[in-house]
Amino acid sequence: MRPVDHRWKSADIVGGNAALDLINTVSGWNHDPEDWAPSVAGFLTWARISGVLDAKEKKQADRLAATSPAAAERALASMNELRLTLRRLVGSLEQGQDPGSEDLSPINRWARRLALSREVKVGRNGIEFALKQDLPALELPCLRVTAAALALLENPPATRLKRCRSRDCGWMFVDGSKNRSRRWCDMAVCGNLSKAKRFRARYA
Ligand SMILES: [Zn+2]
Repeated sequence: MRPVDHRWKSADIVGGNAALDLINTVSGWNHDPEDWAPSVAGFLTWARISGVLDAKEKKQADRLAATSPAAAERALASMNELRLTLRRLVGSLEQGQDPGSEDLSPINRWARRLALSREVKVGRNGIEFALKQDLPALELPCLRVTAAALALLENPPATRLKRCRSRDCGWMFVDGSKNRSRRWCDMAVCGNLSKAKRFRARYA
């Protein structure tokens, strides 16, 4: 996988679920894949843009990564493992296939880790589950992605889970359009690119 120092922007967050957005930190999974989060800095920038870290947590995570390179490396390795797990699981779902046990054990490990990291507390809307306050900020993105992944698995929007039609892209998203006709991760990027290619093929 080719590392790319991508400049993340909010338009890159198209999945409609943080688990899909983590999978989408790789562009072109099936064809010349590019890793758009090859470093801790890139991963944390993605985490902030995608909303799995707030501004204060992002600062804490940056500080932690700067003072403890070993913790930063561990966070990146965890992210890589979770990303691959989700890619395989969600890929099976999208294809309408049951995932194999080799794909289920890692997500079960993450589910257990999430369960141990949460506590019941009284929030703005009454009783709620929240991540414990004392967790290292570097661990928050993957735990939140795990929560989003479990929500997706509990209620799989099977017919709405889609992969961008562009061969070079492959980003995944939940199709929230009324008639479920969305084909591209982003019409402005892959949709137009595809139209331009078709146009060239027809008239060039
Ligand atoms: Zn696309």
